[in-house]
This record gives sequence, structure tokens and C-alpha cells, in this order.
Amino acid sequence: MTAATWIAAAKGSPFGVHNLPYGVFSTADRPGRRRIGVRIGDFVLDAGAAARATGAPSVLLDADTLNPLLAAGRPLWAEVRAALTHWLTEESYRGALTPLLTPLAEAELHLPFEVADYVDFYSSEHHATNLGRIFRPGAEPLTPNWKHLPIGYHGRSGTVVVSGTPVTRPHGQRKAPSDAVPDFGPTRRLDIEAEVGFVVGTPSEPGSRVPMAGFSEHVFGVCLVNDWSARDIQAWEYVPLGPFLGKSFATSLSPWIVPLEALEHARVAPPARDVEPLPYLDDRAGEPWGLDIELEVRLNGHTLSRPPFAGMYWTAAQQLAQMTANGASLRTGDLFASGTVSGPEPRTRGALIELTWNGTEPIELPDGSTRSFLEDGDEVTITATAPGPAGTRIGFGEVSGRIRP
Ligand code: CA
Repeated sequence: MTAATWIAAAKGSPFGVHNLPYGVFSTADRPGRRRIGVRIGDFVLDAGAAARATGAPSVLLDADTLNPLLAAGRPLWAEVRAALTHWLTEESYRGALTPLLTPLAEAELHLPFEVADYVDFYSSEHHATNLGRIFRPGAEPLTPNWKHLPIGYHGRSGTVVVSGTPVTRPHGQRKAPSDAVPDFGPTRRLDIEAEVGFVVGTPSEPGSRVPMAGFSEHVFGVCLVNDWSARDIQAWEYVPLGPFLGKSFATSLSPWIVPLEALEHARVAPPARDVEPLPYLDDRAGEPWGLDIELEVRLNGHTLSRPPFAGMYWTAAQQLAQMTANGASLRTGDLFASGTVSGPEPRTRGALIELTWNGTEPIELPDGSTRSFLEDGDEVTITATAPGPAGTRIGFGEVSGRIRP
């Protein structure tokens, strides 16, 4: 258990000194000057300025993205985190560091790192089963490969945006099963996917594989992802090569990257697997990377669901092993996301297509309106927390976005 922070307002916060997520921020007085910030309570500590003020080496923190820190590797990540913890718990730093705290409400938050490659998985058995039932009625809901490997696809890193960025309703080819031919126009079935994202720091060599035991050496931290999805475009285009324009228009990311170290108390055993995995994916003898992260999905302020990440069939360590099983190298800034987090109960589903069963069971909102899919002006916010040390909670902040026509 770490000592208490001298920032009284941060005590008991899910952003206490046990968390210390990293982001990139600017302030209205210097809008073009992006700096690395560390969230403590409802403040943002200017991390580079703090390093300078304390006489510590500041090169990794004096940057406008997290990339130099991401590239530095696990031993330096631990050193920087220990220094931040020390500064924020030792009363003697209060005078020097208090002027370097910006109230969160006055900080503009930016995409915290340059996203290299982006991979999205499909690792909730409940989500994959529900989508199989909806997209392939009458067939086995899970494809024959599903329990042998974490299924994924390469997404579009250039359209990953930070929380708060508006999402423009995409156009594309739409064809309902009853239509003879497709037409072109704005999607009628705009959806969300509540996911957890993993940020790669340490790169790997081309031709080498990263085993599951290498997960904490390569992965820096965790964030929240909304994989916006146009279901009508997706349903028509995905055969036989998978997701393309129905997904690539926007992917939103929460602005705070929670360090992996902060999630030590959130580790749980993943669910029992009923198919024996091949050795490179077999985590039964090691220390598997299930994580007890509780998500919440809100539409225009109304809670739609609470998806439980702990129930994901494939862990992020297995996903990393799969991503590199062919020798594909990792780059600093690679992002991989879990796939939609859906639990077994209806109100634990992480996408509207499941919550409304492909639009056939619309959701009623408190204002009396109903939704099958998103309407222009709708705002979706995903938040999450996880267990921290000694009964505390770890906050992830939020990923939100509003739909514009
Ligand atoms: Ca997805």
C-alpha cells in the first residue's frame, strides 16, 4: 500500500495515487503547447515540469506525446511511476508541485500517443454468439475456429480519435436481405462497441513471437475504446474478408492510459475454456491476464448496460501472442482492442445490435423516445472502474462521442 497523497481532494478518488494514468493535455493560456499530464484526483499534473522542478531526468516526460515514454520499456516505466508516486506523497514537494496542477475542467485532453497499428479482436463468447445468431440465423453461432484462436482484424489507426471528438455518420452501401440491389447513403444502423484497449510500448523484432509471458514487458497500459460500427454497411461488405468501411470511419479512445502496474489487484482468472488451446495460447499453467474491469455504457446520460470484462474468453496476453504468432513485429504505439465486451445477461451487452436484438426490441429512453440504433445528436459515453489496492477503485475516465449528420 502506497502512502497517502498530499492532495487532500484526491483521497478516496478512483484517480488516487494508486492509479496515476498518463495523458496529453494543453491549457487555454497556451493552446498549442501539448504536455504529458498525470491525473491525480480531478487535477492534471504537468509531468515534464514536475520532473524539472524536482531535479529528476525529464526527457521522457518533456514530450507532446507518450511515445518516448512508451518506447522506454518496463524498467523505466517502473522508475517513472515510482518517482511520480514519491513526488505526490512526500509533503516536501507540495510547494514546488502545487503550481503545476491544472484543474481537470481547465485541461484540454488530446490523443495521448501516436497510434501505430490498430488491431481489433472479437473475444467475448457472449458477443460472438449473439452476433452469430443475428447475422447467420439457423447456423452454429460460433464459427469453428472461435475457441481455437482469438479472432481479430487490422483496423485503421489514422481514424482513432480521442474522446469528445464528434463522429460523423458514415455513408456506404446498404442492402437489406429483402433488397434486390444495394443503394448508397448514410448508415441507418449506427452502433457502438464498448471495448478495452491495450497500448504497446516495447517493440518486437520482425520474425520473433511474443509469448504470453512477455505481455507486461511489451504492454504499457490500458484504456477504453468505442469501436463505432455501421451495421448495415458491415453486414453487406464483410463477406468474405471481414470488417472494412463499416468500422474504419472512427474509433474513439479514452484520454487516460492506466499503467498496467495499477491493475495488479484487478487480475482474475479468465473463465474456464472448454476447448484445449494450443500450447502458445495455453495460459492454464501460468498467471493468466483476466482483468476485473466493470464497464458502463450510457446513451444521452441514461445507463444502457454494464458489461463485465472479467468474463472475456480470450485475455489480452493471449491476443498479443496471437498477433505475433506469425512473427509480425510490434511497434511502439500499437493499439489492440478486446472486441465488444458483452456478458451473459441482456443488460450486460456492449453493443446496441445485441441490446435491441438487431433493432427488433428497441430500447426506451427516459424522455419517452426509443432507439434501435443511434440517431444524430446522440451522445454515447463509456466509463469503467477496476479494483485497486485495499478496497480502492481504479478509474479509467471515459470515452464519449456525439453523432453528427
Ligand atoms: Ca470491435
